Amino acid sequence: MTVVKDSGARAIMPPFGDEHEQLRETVARFVAAEIAPHVDEWEAAREFPRELYRRCAELGFLGLKFPEAYGGQGGTHRHDAVWVEELAHSGGSGGVAAGLHAHTSIAMPPIFNFGSEEQKQRWLVPGIAGEKIGALGITEPGAGSDVASIATTAKRQGDAYIVNGAKTFITNGVRADFLVCACKTTEEGGHGGISFLVLEREMPGYEVAAKLEKMGWHSSDTGELAFTDVEVPAENLLGEENGGFKLIMANFAWERLVMSIGAVGAMRRLIETTVAYALDREAFGHPIGKFQAIRHQIAEMATEAEAARAQTYDALRLFHEGRDCIKEVSISKLLTQRTALRIADQSLQIHGGYGYMREYGIERAVRDARLGPIGGGTDEIMKEIIGKTMGL
Ligand SMILES: Cc1cc2nc3c(=O)[nH]c(=O)nc-3n(C[C@H](O)[C@H](O)[C@H](O)COP(=O)(O)OP(=O)(O)OC[C@H]3O[C@@H](n4cnc5c(N)ncnc54)[C@H](O)[C@@H]3O)c2cc1C
Repeated sequence: MTVVKDSGARAIMPPFGDEHEQLRETVARFVAAEIAPHVDEWEAAREFPRELYRRCAELGFLGLKFPEAYGGQGGTHRHDAVWVEELAHSGGSGGVAAGLHAHTSIAMPPIFNFGSEEQKQRWLVPGIAGEKIGALGITEPGAGSDVASIATTAKRQGDAYIVNGAKTFITNGVRADFLVCACKTTEEGGHGGISFLVLEREMPGYEVAAKLEKMGWHSSDTGELAFTDVEVPAENLLGEENGGFKLIMANFAWERLVMSIGAVGAMRRLIETTVAYALDREAFGHPIGKFQAIRHQIAEMATEAEAARAQTYDALRLFHEGRDCIKEVSISKLLTQRTALRIADQSLQIHGGYGYMREYGIERAVRDARLGPIGGGTDEIMKEIIGKTMGL
């Protein structure tokens, strides 16, 4: 029997194939050359340049999963998943990833999935080209996890809706040209009374009330928005009136998968960085990675990361095949976000004092990872969903 020594190289795992691995290399090269070197500067500036959207569009990364007819690449969610994972793996910035993905993964999909042809021409085509930036507005000062309790109203008046209310914690909220916005279109609101309207930043009464300061994701903008008698043409309604709750839920699956895949990429980066550091840094006459305590800790980190990756790829496979995957996606989100946070913290510990310094990017990874168990549906909400799918 020939024993093949584990070289550490990754075999291609389903649902990916050769073409995805080629894309992976292309993305990794681009991110390493044009994003990673600027991350510190963009974090300090509290934003990355708007030009980055155009550059990513030029290379086809914003339209991987959208049809060529709209300027996309005609690929699938698997191609998008490669982009998401490699951006996290090679870029190392939760903020840059958040700003790009809020546009491509949570704002544009409802327009593609539920918009009319005219709406796709107005927002999807320039969105894929990186000319117009989108954001998704669901969360409000008084309603987060309890999505059905949103209070922003859209009252029909002739050919328009008059929108009043506020949204908060909106990624890209400050720079977005269009906002896919959840509003109450009945007095009661709730599951049967919410609709998606597309608001545009130049509409009178649409105001960016604040750019919020936060713990991590510094290079992304997180905005608070206020709407006062904003007149939104009825043609900006996405999908059916009062059918918005279904649209919100449909969008969550991909958003949560994107967060899970991003965490997989971030964990790979952290483990590679930590192994390199543990082999290089010496204490008591030995590289610290040769101490059993540290070697075992890194082995555990790798084990947890691999398990989270396998779970996530499986949820992606189900999603790609169009199967019911709400339980698997929720499990992935729950598992990956906590695991990534723990691994980031362990990585910081292994880097000692240097981990606490800005230079190594590890303290940023810890701060960025902290959002995972909150954003896109909290850990507690994931547990609620998983429990319900089990009949509890
Ligand atoms: C940086 C950042 C970016 C974001 N980007 C966007 C965006 O682009 N668009 C957008 O719409 N939103 C965005 N969000 C909002 C995010 O989705 C919400 O913060 C999240 O859904 C939680 O809502 P909340 O903050 O109001 O917490 P709450 O819902 O008030 O929850 C507070 C706590 O109570 C717990 N809790 C609530 N209900 C239950 C329950 N039934 N059982 C047990 N525990 C419960 C929660 O898990 C949490 O621990 C962003 C948030 C942040 C911080």
